[in-house]
Amino acid sequence: MTSTRDSAVGEQPAVKSAKDANAAKPRARRGAGETVGEKADGKSETALSAERGAPPAGAKKTAAKEAPTKKAAEKKVPAAKKTPAKKTPAAKAPAKKAAAAGKAPGAESAGGGARPESRTALVRRARRINRELAEVYPYAHPELDFENSFQLLVATVLSAQTTDLRVNQTTPALFEAYPTPEDMAAADPERLEQLIRPTGFFRAKARSLLGLSAALRDRFDGEVPGRLQDLVTLPGVGRKTANVVLGNAFGVPGITVDTHFQRLVRRWRWTAETDPEKIEAEVCALFPKSDWTMLSHRVIFHGRRICHSRKPACGACPIAPLCPAYGEGETDPEKARKLLKYEKGGLPGQRLKPPPDFPGPPAPPLGAE
Ligand code: SF4
Repeated sequence: MTSTRDSAVGEQPAVKSAKDANAAKPRARRGAGETVGEKADGKSETALSAERGAPPAGAKKTAAKEAPTKKAAEKKVPAAKKTPAKKTPAAKAPAKKAAAAGKAPGAESAGGGARPESRTALVRRARRINRELAEVYPYAHPELDFENSFQLLVATVLSAQTTDLRVNQTTPALFEAYPTPEDMAAADPERLEQLIRPTGFFRAKARSLLGLSAALRDRFDGEVPGRLQDLVTLPGVGRKTANVVLGNAFGVPGITVDTHFQRLVRRWRWTAETDPEKIEAEVCALFPKSDWTMLSHRVIFHGRRICHSRKPACGACPIAPLCPAYGEGETDPEKARKLLKYEKGGLPGQRLKPPPDFPGPPAPPLGAE
């Protein structure tokens, strides 16, 4: 869930499957009569579309209104005839450039146009992306295997600089040896290091696990605390880890700003910030609190499966019409489908014990890849 890089697992050759067709099929934009969840400002979809950048209907009206003015100008000042002729190619130039750059239809209204996107339009577009992602990944979930808050806390600490898959392959033996904070606090450091070695940085991670387990035993009666201000006092636990634990073990809404989340929200122009805490604050402000946890899962799912760091599969991306960064990756649908990963590419997921609604096969145990 919080891995900071995609591993070799993420680079497995994609296999075509029947699922490709659904995964790769760009979703048609909803009609003007679409019911949306952000009507608080009282603006209609049409009005908001106009803010995003002149839809065809609005363009016709504008042209109709301007026509008499142009005719009058033509009568009074003959030279004025040349003015519209000069302006027309200039006005079309961005569209031609966009086409040449491989922008998706509607990219101009997806925050990618020359006109700055209004705050209202940004909120609408962001929430629409979230709704689309909810349809693409109805089974989005934390991708770490865990059965209680202590296991989730340990697994999240281990997930730094590795994949959730590698953590999931490592934790069964770890939790069998040390099922409680008291057990782990009393562990032999060298044995603990060997058990978590596959996750990398195992010495530093072992120190964190010993420290946080002792802190849970000594300061929190052997329980994982359910407050952010307590969690961040534990060794090896930062705000990102704390939000993962709060959101998924305690039901406290939170946004997980991992490397995928940072990359995608900047591509979508939800924020220009680079500092994780500022990103968290800006994205939180775009959504109701109740959306925060699932939004994080969906964005991270999309980053792992389709909107990759180096080669996003734009040609197979269901939210391309809402994305100002369309064209950063492969736009050819056939080539893009080959870039899809995990269940979208017909491959195993990251969890050895995925939720029942997960449509892909479970991940293999350690050594069986
Ligand atoms: S894959 Fe391409 S179109 Fe889709 S979200 Fe990423 S950059 Fe945008």
